[in-house]
Amino acid sequence: MSGVIRTVNPATGEPIATYDGWDADRVETAVARAHAASRAWALVPVTERAALAGRLARTLREHKEHLATLAVAEMGKPVGEAEGEVEKSAVTAEYYARQGPGILADEHVEVEGARAWVAYEPAGLVLAVMPWNFPVWQVMRFAVPSLVAGNGVLLKHASNVTGSALALRDLFVEAGFPEHLVTALVVADADVPEVTARIVEDDRVAAVTLTGSNRAGAAVGAAAGRAAKKSVLELGGSDAFVVLDDADVEAAAAAAVRARFANSGQSCVCAKRFVVGAPVADAFTEAFVAGVEKLRVGDPRARDTQVGPLARDDLRAALRRQVEESVAAGARLLTGGEPLPGEGYFYRPTVLADTGPGMPAFDEETFGPLAALTVARDDEDAVRLANATAYGLGLSVWTGDPGRGVALARRVTSGAAFVNAVVASDPRLPFGGTKRSGHGRELATAGIREFTNIRTYWVG
Ligand code: NAP
Repeated sequence: MSGVIRTVNPATGEPIATYDGWDADRVETAVARAHAASRAWALVPVTERAALAGRLARTLREHKEHLATLAVAEMGKPVGEAEGEVEKSAVTAEYYARQGPGILADEHVEVEGARAWVAYEPAGLVLAVMPWNFPVWQVMRFAVPSLVAGNGVLLKHASNVTGSALALRDLFVEAGFPEHLVTALVVADADVPEVTARIVEDDRVAAVTLTGSNRAGAAVGAAAGRAAKKSVLELGGSDAFVVLDDADVEAAAAAAVRARFANSGQSCVCAKRFVVGAPVADAFTEAFVAGVEKLRVGDPRARDTQVGPLARDDLRAALRRQVEESVAAGARLLTGGEPLPGEGYFYRPTVLADTGPGMPAFDEETFGPLAALTVARDDEDAVRLANATAYGLGLSVWTGDPGRGVALARRVTSGAAFVNAVVASDPRLPFGGTKRSGHGRELATAGIREFTNIRTYWVG
């Protein structure tokens, strides 16, 4: 094993950096050190662990510009959004600095003739396999609660954001976390399946979390199953954005543009399929397409850019195939539908109408600036279409009657339901999927307890 990782700026196609992948000895040394660090960390009082999360928030803000610049260069997101994810990470660190000790406090239970309580004790060392789409946030939303819970973190970040991974490791140390408690593993592409499977099986590793594609999730989930270890899987999404016939169409269309094109369309909770009630379908479509055509696509370093390039050329090729096959199957192209000429991996913001089951734009996750529109006859039909997916992450419903929206949401399977709001994660609320979108939760109380040993004490 070993090999080389080459990172590329997706806005220009220019190389950024080269990293030597670690060989087996170096990985072994890293796991041994991380294991030792996590055992010592588990003995640190939770109030001290939480206080360091507070320091991490300050350190994140001090390095906001540097982290954002790295994310822009490595995966091409618009700079304002990159700064936003650093700020959101800092807010989450503050949340757990405040709430962590209370959430993890012992819970006393009344029993006869004894004292009994439930303790939330550290799980140990956790492998975190992370994606590139939010290079800072994805890591922080797992690592912060896990560290406050008393665990160590072995980070296997996506190869194309290796610079961000190494910067985050340094940031934890600068904030005061012990050396080796958070380790960024540098693993060359060809070695990733083997190295991650071996680490999952290692007795020094307690559990694994993966945020990424279903292909990677299946591989890591299978390794966890073989080793009888806990896993949290945060996988793909193809969420519906349902617009009912009593919705404020202009407001829904404006929100739909944000919901689909945030992060250049590369977010698991981006709305991907737009299910629109027949009476408002024409008005919504017109307003939505007008909004999409106004999006400013270009240099992600520019403050007024709203949509940057796709993160890799192969991702753009995949999106292009999904559009072309959907059109061949009968979808109507309303705008976009082609790569932007010139350097970089840009693709025009695209809207397809008349989509439905049997088309890639409807059946598969689309990870880029592509929206698929479908008309629903009535609420019953909207429920059917919203559920007609292998995924179930975050549903959004737009209506003049919130009660009707909640009633409809109850009939659609997803990890979150937002009525008259765009789906977004929030440290105060749990986040996670159903169906092929994965299992387990991050954030809030549920997220910090995922990687704890929920331990029963009975003292007679
Ligand atoms: P990806 O290709 O699955 O990569 C994710 C991570 O898994 C990377 O670190 C990758 O390493 C690693 N990996 C790939 N194949 C693996 C294997 N066989 N065994 C072990 N690890 C493996 O996904 P991505 O393209 O980075 O991210 C986009 C996907 O993530 C989308 O499907 C999106 O919906 C999903 N996502 C989900 C959530 C959520 O919370 N549900 C949030 C964000 C993103 P290399 O980079 O070295 O290949």
